[in-house]
Amino acid sequence: SDRTLPKPRWLKAAPATSARYHELRATVRSLGLATVCEEAKCPNIGDCWGGGGVRVKKSKDDDDDDDDHTDHRGTATATIMIMGDTCTRGCSFCAVKTSRKPPPLDPDEPRKVAEAVSTWGLDYVVLTSVDRDDLDDQGSEHFRNVVLELKRLSSSSSSSSSSSSLGGTEGRIIVEALTPDFRGDLDLVSRVASSGLDVYAHNVETVERLTPRVRDRRAGYDQSMRVLSHVKAVSPNVLTKTSIMLGLGETDDEVRTTLEDLRRNDVDVVTFGQYLQPSRRHLPVKEYVTPEKFDEWRVVAENEMGFKYSASGPLVRSSYKAGEFFLKNMVR
Ligand code: SF4
Ligand code: SF4
Repeated sequence: SDRTLPKPRWLKAAPATSARYHELRATVRSLGLATVCEEAKCPNIGDCWGGGGVRVKKSKDDDDDDDDHTDHRGTATATIMIMGDTCTRGCSFCAVKTSRKPPPLDPDEPRKVAEAVSTWGLDYVVLTSVDRDDLDDQGSEHFRNVVLELKRLSSSSSSSSSSSSLGGTEGRIIVEALTPDFRGDLDLVSRVASSGLDVYAHNVETVERLTPRVRDRRAGYDQSMRVLSHVKAVSPNVLTKTSIMLGLGETDDEVRTTLEDLRRNDVDVVTFGQYLQPSRRHLPVKEYVTPEKFDEWRVVAENEMGFKYSASGPLVRSSYKAGEFFLKNMVR
């Protein structure tokens, strides 16, 4: 009964070919590390793991800048999922499996992840997790420990690190955490916000009107805004970031209002991507937004609304080339 819209041509990504991509893939295999990039068969893997060679604008008005900011060495980004592969929630857009009582956390995970990532030679790591409503602290302490361990290991090995050529970061790995809402418990949010991470990401996913249909009933538009605003209040130097999926039936006015609400809550970075239906049981796609329209949203976000930067495109995901964007915009 539900008619499926035909997929437009712009949703096909180029195959991954770079040497850096192959090098990272071999290391991931040998370490037995699980990345969202691979598990979710993310179409951006070539761009993210290849990390570089693609020109990214340094500022909103460098369109005709003849100074080439292309970083040929690149900034490889990968996303690692912690706290297991089973979520206590069930959002109607998400393909992650669900259980009320997922297996317990692995207390050794912070050390394992940190060791693997430092061997791996990544420049920028995105940690993400399922929601763990089954745990008293929603997994916040565990999340904090993973960041602490990553930062500890990367600072003790930074002088000899292969990524020490990166300007301004002295080879320290940059950590972004894409976090649950911790049920809006601000003490739990503080634990992660003060862990020493560089970017705190939490996704609003969609506009206010569609939130109850799109996200699990325990999530909330206002609750997510409060979480993001609290991060900035307790850790002003941490960059806050969120992501919006387009194509769920939202109107332009609703997207604008969402951007205004985000800025009112001091959110620094926003990304836009196309919602893609993971299976027939998930929410249908209402619209395939054109690449031109995605570009317009990026310009609105950066030039009109005052976000520090924005990534926007049909295949953009919250973590899309996060390292490249971060370094080119934040490191002077
Ligand atoms: Fe991995 Fe995220 Fe890049 Fe996809 S967009 S390849 S999940 S870092
Ligand atoms: Fe998926 Fe996150 Fe929702 Fe869990 S909380 S179902 S992982 S989007």
